[in-house]
Amino acid sequence: MSENYEVILETKHVTKRFPASGGRELTACSDVNLKFYKGKTLGLIGESGCGKTTFMRFLVRLDTPTEGEILFKGKDLTKLKGKELRQTRQYIQMVFQDPGGSFNPKMKIRDIICEPLLNFGRIKPSEKDAVARKYLEAVELPGDFAGRYPHNMSGGQRQRIAIARAIALEPELIVMDEATCALDVSVQKTIIELVCRLQKEKNIAIGFIAHDLGLIQSFAHQIAVMYLGHIVEVLPGADVDKAKHPYTRALLEAVFDTKMDFSKKIESIDSEIPSALDIPPGCPFQNRCSYCTERCTKEKPVLKTIGEDHEVACHLF
Ligand code: SF4
Repeated sequence: MSENYEVILETKHVTKRFPASGGRELTACSDVNLKFYKGKTLGLIGESGCGKTTFMRFLVRLDTPTEGEILFKGKDLTKLKGKELRQTRQYIQMVFQDPGGSFNPKMKIRDIICEPLLNFGRIKPSEKDAVARKYLEAVELPGDFAGRYPHNMSGGQRQRIAIARAIALEPELIVMDEATCALDVSVQKTIIELVCRLQKEKNIAIGFIAHDLGLIQSFAHQIAVMYLGHIVEVLPGADVDKAKHPYTRALLEAVFDTKMDFSKKIESIDSEIPSALDIPPGCPFQNRCSYCTERCTKEKPVLKTIGEDHEVACHLF
């Protein structure tokens, strides 16, 4: 992938530490280096609390890392301020897990979709209705929904509105934070199909946060696996069955499907995830890994290339 596609955004050594009680530090992200390609989806997967949402928030500048660079078309987003930051942010949009929570319930759908366009002076107030109808149709909703309020719509319809608002500014990257996990499975599928169609039509890069490896592998071009703020494996979405890291393998074992053999024991990951306040020296996965050796307790593994577009951070490889 790296040779054939244009990089739209690249993170270099992105690290976030939060001060905690007793003079300690909580490391939410540690040395994260990832590339987002034009027209492609990067799925970021990991358990709740692993730092994936913290990381993706940096890309839309809802937060800033403690260290590292976020290069969007060559400009470091962490250094932008004022007008330049505002102008750049319109090209990176976010869709949240709960679209209802990100809408003003007193605004009609046409106002919700057109608000960012008006803020950036892209349309006149008199054009709102026609523009809202155009984007509603783009997300396969009737244009008449422009006059409705968010509470008159189902969860799937609200998520389509959130996508309509995100694409209205013609962004180059959309970050989707667990954008389908609150929806019924059938609705989830139609939203993923919509996102894939819009991505193809508009050549948008997508960063998709998920905790369901089964879902993400169905459409992500590359998958990055995060554990306790560390990227432990990056591989093509189509090759997820070839994952090597013991954590990714454990996530794969835990994916439910209709052909699952319930007479066999479902392998789970041993013990609890450690606190991000107490990340052990050496490999962060060591206390849950059945292959752990003395070296793993002392030396932190770094990402190494082990195949085409496939990197893994584990001393076994
Ligand atoms: Fe397990 Fe060691 Fe690999 Fe970490 S480095 S995943 S502890 S084998």
